[in-house]
Amino acid sequence: NEVAKESLRSPICCIMGHVDTGKTKLLDCIRGTNVQEGEAGGITQQIGATYFPAENIRERTKELRPDAKLKVPGLLVIDTPGHESFSNLRSRGSNLCDIAILVVDIMHGLEPQTIESLNLLRKRNTEFIVALNKVDRLYGWKTCKNAPIEKALALQSKDVVIEFNMRLTQVITQFKEQGLNTEIYYKNKEMGDTFSIVPTSAISGEGIPDLLLYLVMWSQKTMVEKLTFVDKVQCTVLEVKVIPGHGTTIDVVLVNGVLHEGDQIVACGSQGPIITTVRSLLTRHPMKELRVKGTYQHHREVKAAQCIKITAQGLEHAVAGTSLHVIGPDVDVDEAKKTAMEDMKSVMSLVDKSGEGVYVQASTLGSLEALLEFLKSPDVKIPVSGIGLGPVHKKDIMKAGVMLEKKKEYATVLAFDVKITTEARELADNMGVKIFSADIIYHLFDQFKGYVKDVRD
Ligand code: GDP
Ligand code: MG
Repeated sequence: NEVAKESLRSPICCIMGHVDTGKTKLLDCIRGTNVQEGEAGGITQQIGATYFPAENIRERTKELRPDAKLKVPGLLVIDTPGHESFSNLRSRGSNLCDIAILVVDIMHGLEPQTIESLNLLRKRNTEFIVALNKVDRLYGWKTCKNAPIEKALALQSKDVVIEFNMRLTQVITQFKEQGLNTEIYYKNKEMGDTFSIVPTSAISGEGIPDLLLYLVMWSQKTMVEKLTFVDKVQCTVLEVKVIPGHGTTIDVVLVNGVLHEGDQIVACGSQGPIITTVRSLLTRHPMKELRVKGTYQHHREVKAAQCIKITAQGLEHAVAGTSLHVIGPDVDVDEAKKTAMEDMKSVMSLVDKSGEGVYVQASTLGSLEALLEFLKSPDVKIPVSGIGLGPVHKKDIMKAGVMLEKKKEYATVLAFDVKITTEARELADNMGVKIFSADIIYHLFDQFKGYVKDVRD
């Protein structure tokens, strides 16, 4: 009914799973874009988000179920980074997500990050659907571009169907070993207790209609309360970016509520709370990911759920991975400032109290948190004495240099996905502070481990 449609927001969907299972490619396939090939080493480092309007979903699913009633305005899909040490960024992701797609490569079955993702989803009680991807790689698969999966399977040879069933059964068994009941979705009679598997190909599009329709139908059926639109703004900063002509902007996910041009907002900043006024609200054209270059659409107001770029003054030190608050008429400004800084405080608590340890620098609070969690984990155990966000400057080298007197191997900056200024590098060379820089957490760890071994030997 129309009233219900008015009052529901779009579900927010996260896409998770082991690296190279096809998470980015699946989104490309639904969008009709090609982000995956442009990524450094094919690894998604920052969160991106795409809005799929209901009209588009209807178009893509009409062959499967022409009479499907879509009650939500669309679907907002967030592509979370693919590397396993990003579990924290992902847990942020699944925190603000209503439903997830857990991608499994049909040729590989369950892999370490599949299980890690699975455990995260269970810990957070997040509903999910398994996309059993790369069916086109089954030997002898006949392409049926964008076809519903049952139709595609019906057109395959006997041998392909046998291999498909064998691999499907293996995956179901592997899930069972993790204590989870799964079943191919059209045979699943106990949805809710038994998780559904949708076979897909991100290359030729088989099963994509099934995946889209299932995501929407399941969300709108079982999450009415969660998806009910409210006025109170709930919003998270995904990225802080300098855009020519706009200055420093923030990309946010508006989970609920409405944002307007001219709204007074408080953001968490690395130098303290930032109070500013929304100058403009920009979106990419629907179906384009927020990271893809192109023109923006301006909006007077934007209703949740949506991914938006906000331009405003004073956002230079805004911290990605924190929540954004709107100062309404009855909101106490000091209280709002305090609330805005809480995310930062929780990350600061991960720094070693002993004062001995390496210096860690990252681009976002999410990646900083992921890196700190990783360094703290039992099989790594590298203490951290200080943290920084954004490019490495001279002052960061000075701070790391304090360790030269205490423990030489800790006089180190682990720089994750950030630039290092020339002055900082020169100073580090003069002082004897080591800088390790990488875009992948594991590489940082390996470099540092090698160095510590050299120093100790
Ligand atoms: P991610 O790390 O999970 O985001 O995986 P990507 O989307 O980067 O895909 C990893 C690789 O698998 C790329 O080379 C893709 O072209 C390929 N790939 C992804 N999905 C499919 C699929 O359905 N079929 C085939 N044959 N290859 C795929
Ligand atoms: Mg990816």
